[in-house]
Amino acid sequence: MNPEPIPAGLAPAPPPVMRRFAASSKTLGEGMEIRRALPTQARRMVGPWCFLDHFGPVDISGGQGMRVGPHPHIGLQTVTWLYEGEILHRDSLGSLQLIRPGQLNLMTSGRGISHSEESPQERSPRMHGLQFWIALPDGATEIPPAFEHYPELPRVEHGGLHCTVLVGEALGQRSPARMYSPVMGLDVRSPQATTAPLPLDSQFEHAVLLTGGEVSVDGEALHTGELLYLGGQRSSLAVRASADARFAVIGGRAFADPVLMWWNFVGRDKAALSAACREWNAEAPGFGEVRGYDGARLSAPLPPW
Ligand code: MN
Repeated sequence: MNPEPIPAGLAPAPPPVMRRFAASSKTLGEGMEIRRALPTQARRMVGPWCFLDHFGPVDISGGQGMRVGPHPHIGLQTVTWLYEGEILHRDSLGSLQLIRPGQLNLMTSGRGISHSEESPQERSPRMHGLQFWIALPDGATEIPPAFEHYPELPRVEHGGLHCTVLVGEALGQRSPARMYSPVMGLDVRSPQATTAPLPLDSQFEHAVLLTGGEVSVDGEALHTGELLYLGGQRSSLAVRASADARFAVIGGRAFADPVLMWWNFVGRDKAALSAACREWNAEAPGFGEVRGYDGARLSAPLPPW
């Protein structure tokens, strides 16, 4: 059997493994505690996925909820996915978009964008969700910035698992979200306890993140606050889920060369990351302007190099 040729800039699928990476606790914006499952010290990426925040469930009926002031991005796409609550997104393209559970916000920074995120004034008492970043591959880092809101995504019921295809393709369904390298993201719920095989692309590497209930994959129990990295070369995953469990599956072709990250920037070299910090702090025009956010823009911390 001849192996498939590997596209330029992508790495061959690594062997299958089971490795746990503990998420770290971070503060997002003005005081919201979140768990960051990517990057960790020992695992920087899973395919093109380079950042994974799990926030909540948190009661925001008393406080001001989420408040993340205007800040820039380069070299990535942000994927926002809510289980509960709402977030109001504003960006330098003039977008003003409320996102609710079941919808996808996809922001493509390309060569530069800025945005803010806040809980709207009229809001649900609880917030719970995920924000991911997907690194743009070589050749797509200088594309123009874009923002898309997808009110509906493909849903598949599979062996008692209720799956939503966030990005890429899974279970024969393709998300409309525009991607730039081979990638998949799946939200999985189990209203009832069930066991089911979940088909995977063996060319991808994968990881799973538990956000509720009890789930095991190939006999390995998931724990909240851990990313379970699965490696590649798997064509199926045996899922066992309790009633009301929920988890995310992320995967994709690994890049041949890992990306560098500093603050809200993804790049290929330190000079570009330093330049982005200086330009943002100097209010250079490349990142545009976010209008209507009632608060201060964030400052870029300068890198140690
Ligand atoms: Mn952001």
